[in-house]
Amino acid sequence: MAQYPVVDNSTIEMMSKAFLPVQGLRDHIISYVLDVKEIAEALENECDTNDLSRSFMFWEERDRIKVAAAIIPVDKEYQICLSLTFAQYLWSVGLYLINYFDNCVQIPMMNAVGLNIHNYQPDLDAVSYAEEQFFLARQLTRTVCRESFFYTYNILNPGPYKDIIEHANGAMLGATLFLFTHELAHNYLGHTHILNTYARSVADEKAADHVAMDFIESTFDGPNGTTNKIGIALLFSSLLLMGEDSISGSGTHPHIDVRIAYIVDRLQLDPMDNIYGLIGSAIRLWLLVYGGLTLQEDMASGPFTYYKDFYDHYLSLLTSTRQRRYPDLVPPAWEV
Ligand SMILES: [Zn+2]
Repeated sequence: MAQYPVVDNSTIEMMSKAFLPVQGLRDHIISYVLDVKEIAEALENECDTNDLSRSFMFWEERDRIKVAAAIIPVDKEYQICLSLTFAQYLWSVGLYLINYFDNCVQIPMMNAVGLNIHNYQPDLDAVSYAEEQFFLARQLTRTVCRESFFYTYNILNPGPYKDIIEHANGAMLGATLFLFTHELAHNYLGHTHILNTYARSVADEKAADHVAMDFIESTFDGPNGTTNKIGIALLFSSLLLMGEDSISGSGTHPHIDVRIAYIVDRLQLDPMDNIYGLIGSAIRLWLLVYGGLTLQEDMASGPFTYYKDFYDHYLSLLTSTRQRRYPDLVPPAWEV
């Protein structure tokens, strides 16, 4: 367990004002988006010619997470909004997934194939802190108990976990970059200006994912490329881990396994890329928690040569579980 933090006065002042610790990264979320030239230019253009609002809104969902992000009509314009509560959830899931993967998947896998030449040892203290954050993240899907986020080390008071917290901060920024760009894409594609129908919305969501990837792809070869790829993997892992029914698109979005397969394909990863391992770990976790896979079945899985094989294995199990549980919600024509 993490020790309760010793707090200095400057931290107390920030903490008393913050809704959740992630609020300390609010300005970073905006500047991170504007740093991507293609996105900044598109935003400018949408504001000038397509009724996009120049103001941006953060929602504080004080009961539980209901909406991750949205673009909504405000005074004849369309405003992009992100939920800070969902951003906190993203951050906490990211901290957990990264540390779980690094310590509990990657090191044992390196040991198994004799590749741990530096003799890395799992950091069990980091894993314990990360599990605590994951517990807090899951709470946000049911109720917001903001104080519990300040009883442990956090973004505003990182203590001994500074390095892993900064890593999670980066992943959260990459994830919110995608969320923001997806909402921008709805305006760019004109979806905000036409009456949305139930029949059309799945196609619109797929198109918005597609355009968001087109914009963000330009960063992949730059200094934030890996962070953004991890962030996108984190976002879809987090959407999946929201609950048992999150595998279904509910007729308004493509099913989550379909979205994940499309997005991961666009990341153009090497078969040994850790990001396959990260998202594969999230899928495996969902399957174990929600009964898509028994522990016995899981123990019989593998061994896997590449992280891509690991990911492919669990994604195909996710797809078959979703097809069994939600066979009819989306018109079959969509899934070709
Ligand atoms: Zn959307």
